[in-house]
Amino acid sequence: MILVTGGAGYIGSHTVKMLIDRGKEILVVDNLSRGFKEAIHPKASFENADLLDFETLSKVINKYEIEAVVHFAAFAYVGESVENPQLYYNNNVVGSFNLIKAVTTKGIKKFVFSSTCSTYGNPIQVPISETETTKPINPYAKTKLMIENILEDFNTAYGLNYVALRYFNAAGCSEDGDIGESHNPETHLIPLVLQSMTEKGKQLKVFGDDYDTPDGTCIRDYIHVNDLADAHIRALDYLNNNDKPVVINLGTGDGNSVKDIINTSEKVTEKKANYVMNPRRPGDPAILVADNKKAKEVLGWTPKYKLEKIIETAWKWHLNKKY
Ligand code: UDP
Repeated sequence: MILVTGGAGYIGSHTVKMLIDRGKEILVVDNLSRGFKEAIHPKASFENADLLDFETLSKVINKYEIEAVVHFAAFAYVGESVENPQLYYNNNVVGSFNLIKAVTTKGIKKFVFSSTCSTYGNPIQVPISETETTKPINPYAKTKLMIENILEDFNTAYGLNYVALRYFNAAGCSEDGDIGESHNPETHLIPLVLQSMTEKGKQLKVFGDDYDTPDGTCIRDYIHVNDLADAHIRALDYLNNNDKPVVINLGTGDGNSVKDIINTSEKVTEKKANYVMNPRRPGDPAILVADNKKAKEVLGWTPKYKLEKIIETAWKWHLNKKY
C-alpha cells in the first residue's frame, strides 16, 4: 500500500487517481484543512489525520502495510507564508518532520516529496537545471528546501531513500472532469483568467507588464497535473530499482507569458478575459522555465500536455466544478 499525504488536494488527488487506475492500493492521509473530501478517490482508504499529531500519525502508519510514501500535504500560498511564517514553518516543516520521523521509525525507505521550483529563488540561469543554486526568497519556498535538507540527512544517517520533485507551475485538471483545481482563495493564473470570463465583476489583475520579456509580462512553465502525477509514479518505480536519492525538476521546458495564457484561454474558450494591468507583485521573477533533461534521463518522463490542452481541461472543470 502507498501512503499519500494531501491526497484530498489538487496534485495529490490527481496522483491518487492515476495510481489507483494502475492498480495500486492507496491510503490517503489528509486533515481536510485545505483539501476536499469530494476529491478523495472512492477506492482509496482514508484517514483524517494531522501530520502535526505525531502519535495519531504513528498509529495510522502502524495500522497499514505501507511500502512507500508520497508526501503532498502542505500549505502553499506564498503571500500567506510571508505574512504568517509561523504557520508555514509549523505546518510544513514540523508536519513533514513528524511524517519523515514516523516512517523512518517504521522502517519505510521509499519517499517521494512534493517540492517546488521556487527553491531556486531568482535563478541566475534559465532554463533552470537542478544544479542551479537554491536561494528561496519566501518562507513557503524555504520550508520546502528545509524538508529536502531533512530528507538528505535522513538518507545519510538512516538510509531513507527519496525523490524530491521540484514542480514548475501545476495547471489543468483531470480530463473526465471528476476532480480539478479548487483553492480558496484562488490565486493561480489560469483559474483566475477563466473566472474573469464567466463571473460578473471578476477581473484579473495582471501583475506587471514592464518585465524584460518579449511582451513585458512574466513567463512561467505550465505543466499539466496529470504529467506531474505520471512523474510521481515513475519516481516510485525509480525507488524500487535504485538506492540513491535524487532531486528532479518537473516542467515542460516551454515558457508562456501571462499574455500568452490570456490569449490561448480566449482561443480555447471563445470568450473574452476581463483583465487590467497592475504593478508587479513583489517576489515574482521575470522568467521561470525548467530544464527537464534530468527528468527525461532518470525517470524516462516526457510531459504530454500542451498549453491548449491544459487550458481545455481547466475550462471543462471550471464550467462544472464539483467542489
Ligand atoms: N499572475 C497575475 N495575476 C494574478 C495571478 C498571477 O498576473 O492574479 C501572474 C504571476 O505574476 C505569475 C503568473 O501569473 O507571473 C503565475 O502566477 P501563479 O500565482 O499562478 O503561480 P506562481 O508562478 O506564482 O507560482
